[in-house]
Amino acid sequence: MSRFDRQSFLGVDSENTLDAATMGLVGLGGGGSHVIQQTAHLGIGGYVVVDPDHITVTNTNRLIGGILADLETENTPAMSKVAIAERLIRGLQEKPRIIPICDSWHNATSELKRCDIIVGAIDSIKEREQLERFARRHLIPYIDVGMDVHELGNEKFLIAGQVILSLPGRPCLRCCGLVTDERLTEEANRYGAAGSRPQVVWSNGVLASTAVGLITQILTPWFNAAPEFVYLDYDGNRGTLLPNVRMALLRDKVCPHHPAEEVGDPLFDVREFNALCEAMRLAKVQAELAAPANSSSLTLWGRVKRLLGL
Ligand SMILES: [Zn+2]
Repeated sequence: MSRFDRQSFLGVDSENTLDAATMGLVGLGGGGSHVIQQTAHLGIGGYVVVDPDHITVTNTNRLIGGILADLETENTPAMSKVAIAERLIRGLQEKPRIIPICDSWHNATSELKRCDIIVGAIDSIKEREQLERFARRHLIPYIDVGMDVHELGNEKFLIAGQVILSLPGRPCLRCCGLVTDERLTEEANRYGAAGSRPQVVWSNGVLASTAVGLITQILTPWFNAAPEFVYLDYDGNRGTLLPNVRMALLRDKVCPHHPAEEVGDPLFDVREFNALCEAMRLAKVQAELAAPANSSSLTLWGRVKRLLGL
């Protein structure tokens, strides 16, 4: 008997499919830690978990897997969020493949670009747009999870959030109106002045569970046609999770913000390659015509040959 017997309806070989999959998760706070716990239960076998932070006392109202003993003491440093995530996964998986990176995701791109799916559970709008752009460039489905608490006045507050599935060519975070120049400017202006953002455990759980449902739809045969674009809004005061009105409006739209030529390895630039080939051709001609008198062309040709490994 397998521990996954009760989820065999996900499809033939879904257990092996999930075990073979690798998920990148950027942000291991309130939202991301829920995602890790659930995907470890679900049986995803590979993880690239990225977060530069360590647990603090104000995280303990919502950080799944984090316990009071992980906090900094006089004798021990605080446990990193990636170490907490790794402990959580190893408690549920016999042989998980985990790459924990206690750093900015910008220093984890080599690992993230090998993932089958990337989940972003980070606050910054700018970082979310950059992570989405990175995922699209590498043709990796990206799921964005975010929540916020808005002050309505008279000491009333609205818990709100969203889950967006973003695939190359399909509507993006800008199409959805989540990323706007105004929000980016506002975020840049308050940089360093922002206090701790309000966060609670249950709303993060709703959003993370929704994201894990999407991951399962994409990775397993459960859905014949996995969704290509999803934009769900969470209203924590009403307790509803509904399609954003833009989801229907954008359904057949092609995203204009991430052109097709952005797809591919960012280290490969065809213009530079063409320029290099042209330089090689010219240098070869110059070398043949002028060598050995023209030492500068020989130097250039030598550089080109070294670059090409000739
Ligand atoms: Zn777009």
